[in-house]
Amino acid sequence: MNVLVLNCGSSSIKYQLLNMEDESVLAKGLVERIGLDGAVLTHKAKGEKHIYNEEIPSHVKGIRMVLNALTDEKAGVIASMEEIHAVGHRIAQGGDLYRTSVLVDNKVKCGLTSLFDLAPLHNPPQFKGIEAIENVLPGVPNVATFDTVFHQGMPPEAYMYALPYELYEKYGVRRYGFHGHSHNYVSKRAAQILGRDLKDLKLITCHLGNGSSLAAVKGGVSVDTSMGFTPLQGLVMGTRCGDIDPAIIPFVMDKEGLSSKEVDQMMNKQSGALGLSGISSDFRDIEEAAKEGNQRAQLTLDVFHYRIRGYIGAYAAAMNGVDGIIFTAGIGENSPATREACLTGLDYLGLKLDPEANNVRGEEKVFSTADSKVAAMVIPTNEEVEIARETVRIVG
Ligand code: ADP
Repeated sequence: MNVLVLNCGSSSIKYQLLNMEDESVLAKGLVERIGLDGAVLTHKAKGEKHIYNEEIPSHVKGIRMVLNALTDEKAGVIASMEEIHAVGHRIAQGGDLYRTSVLVDNKVKCGLTSLFDLAPLHNPPQFKGIEAIENVLPGVPNVATFDTVFHQGMPPEAYMYALPYELYEKYGVRRYGFHGHSHNYVSKRAAQILGRDLKDLKLITCHLGNGSSLAAVKGGVSVDTSMGFTPLQGLVMGTRCGDIDPAIIPFVMDKEGLSSKEVDQMMNKQSGALGLSGISSDFRDIEEAAKEGNQRAQLTLDVFHYRIRGYIGAYAAAMNGVDGIIFTAGIGENSPATREACLTGLDYLGLKLDPEANNVRGEEKVFSTADSKVAAMVIPTNEEVEIARETVRIVG
């Protein structure tokens, strides 16, 4: 069974075509600058890269180009569109409405549009992807998978905010959490690597990329996670501030004369590592600057690591212990220095690191010592395969 996995943004489409007999990737690529000048499709298949520069005014056009590339004589990997058996869509926010992935029908489409308010930047373009597939591949099943679903097992004490209860009832104001496909994938993989049953494990999964979040995964269920009502809460991220005193928001709005939109923009786009360092949102640049003695770069790294250590402590407490701490995504997979700094001072958990084993990038590795009570691991994430597995499970 071949599954096309789609992740649509407002001006982009990321895709992978997977053969689910062996979970191999047949082709993958990216459509960028939809509706803008310089639109381009970059398609990778059979070890080669193909670039298509064309006007791409809409997601429908972008998806048509992807399907043409997939079936192209030279760049293609399938003979016809009939070899795409299902499409799995990444949808950011499932709210309280979706506790599992679902097959898209008219009722689900109404449900999805009712969630636009909760994720106005992410859900509407992802919904456009579903409509585009309905248009271009009529009759092929669409499955909606959600970044929030993995965290639906959180108990109320972890997901409720101490705000007037009516805000939860009227608008669904609560913690949802995100990056669910990634936290789910690496937890399952950690159990396989450790040769243990996931049901018996207490894991802390650290997804550290442009957006970052931690999850406490007990027996395969996410019981807490650092992102909240939106992906703004929690850790220091590339450009997002993460946790702050909420009273800072009206204070800054008054002092700087900012509107709610402007302050939201400030917290999402001009804060985090970029705001604190004044250098870049990319941790490679910040690590480099810190090495050269830039103090604000060092401060940024210190705040980033300190907050992660705090969450690790909180989640070990929430689960009454921890068997494994897993690092994944751009920073987690590629920065030995970050992993070491995040795990420094955790001897109280019985964690012992093997610095030599930690010196890896982008590959699976256990980097704790054999006698460490907690396993420290690097596991490259694979959100696409998780979406494709869900799609196969739903389509049956
Ligand atoms: P996204 O959230 O966009 O999927 P990624 O998971 O690809 O992000 O992570 C991107 C981030 O990973 C970059 O912004 C960069 O800060 C970080 N990164 C990538 N390689 C390294 C590295 N070798 N050292 C430190 N950070 C890295």
